[in-house]
Amino acid sequence: MKAVCWQGVNKLSTETVPDPEIRNDQDVIVKVGLSTTCGSDLHLIGGYIPAMEAGDVLGHEFLGEVVEVGPGVGRHKVGDRVVVASFIGCGRCWYCENDLWSLCDNTNTNPGITSVAYGYEPGGIFGYSHAMGGFRGSHAEYIRVPFADYGAFPVPPEVDDHSALFVSDSVPTGWMGADLGGVRPGDVVAVWGCGAVGQMAARAAILLGAERVFSIDRIPERLAMTERHIGSEVIDYSSTDVGAELREHTGGRGPDVCIEAVGMEAHSAGPHHVYDQVKQQLRLQSDRPTAVREAIHACRKGGTVFVLGVFGGLVDKFPLGAVINKGLTVRGAQQHGQRYIPMLLDRIAGGEISTRHLVTHELSLDEGAKGYELFKHKEDGCVRAVFDPSRVVGDPRATGVGRSGTGYA
Ligand SMILES: [Zn+2]
Ligand SMILES: [Zn+2]
Repeated sequence: MKAVCWQGVNKLSTETVPDPEIRNDQDVIVKVGLSTTCGSDLHLIGGYIPAMEAGDVLGHEFLGEVVEVGPGVGRHKVGDRVVVASFIGCGRCWYCENDLWSLCDNTNTNPGITSVAYGYEPGGIFGYSHAMGGFRGSHAEYIRVPFADYGAFPVPPEVDDHSALFVSDSVPTGWMGADLGGVRPGDVVAVWGCGAVGQMAARAAILLGAERVFSIDRIPERLAMTERHIGSEVIDYSSTDVGAELREHTGGRGPDVCIEAVGMEAHSAGPHHVYDQVKQQLRLQSDRPTAVREAIHACRKGGTVFVLGVFGGLVDKFPLGAVINKGLTVRGAQQHGQRYIPMLLDRIAGGEISTRHLVTHELSLDEGAKGYELFKHKEDGCVRAVFDPSRVVGDPRATGVGRSGTGYA
């Protein structure tokens, strides 16, 4: 089968790789319908997260059709249309039983690297390096889904593929930021980043009753899209002082909950950014935490900062003094998708959350490298490049429901 493979730092290619097979009786094989790029893939492609090997298949946010079922699978049959959580949870360990799915104790088949770096290893995730289990990713024609009874969810017929795709990762990640960030009715919430995850965090904050939600970015198309589809207020950080503007909207107090949805390759203006970028490129620090610092600074005293952006290791100039002296709660997590996915599919079916607009570009698997170029550089208004294995290069079908005039709203 065809698959988009990592070949080395900033080098991707589409290769023919062996078809996946059932290896465990709780596996299913899914024929991939759609699979999307994610900002966290860029850290792998750029070599910021080690433990990638040439030939690794990328991709962790996908949906498709069940084509083969292991003998121990009870909840799925051939022909089911399913969306699959990006993190793999066994469903039986202490963490899975406590709905902390991305912390599963049993699915990271290669725990050595992260247990040294972090103290304990997180769970396994599709297409996310050998440090996270070495599972083959979803930018392929087929994928093996372990523990399918827990990680794969039937998609209701009224939810189309382009909408359901993001329930694999971005929608539950965003929801979790607002939920575990403790957003309450009447709160003011600020979200850094208007990519898919940031947009979903803002929407979740609105649905959880926040009185005002501010989304912060610098890309005009993303700000416009967020305003239109999410309904939050937007702040362009390239043209204003974000901290001052947030204070102005909150009677000088600052937001109750600040959600960071940018990650380790954050961009910003100013000398700290240059310092971080140089240190990161020299591998003296692994992550650039610009948006995290800004969120900690902007948050009201006693508020909560939730980190959704992916960080791999160590950061420099972390404002611990502000955390202590302002009495902040700082939290972060990789997504516990299995906890939220059925509820989120219902909300999409009911029209409370819209996701289709995120698909700005649709490509074939042969265009894997091109898709990531568009996505990385945010070219041509790209928010998410989506791979459809049934497409061919130069496919006459329209590309990107989010770009058609009527695709919005
Ligand atoms: Zn992701
Ligand atoms: Zn588990």
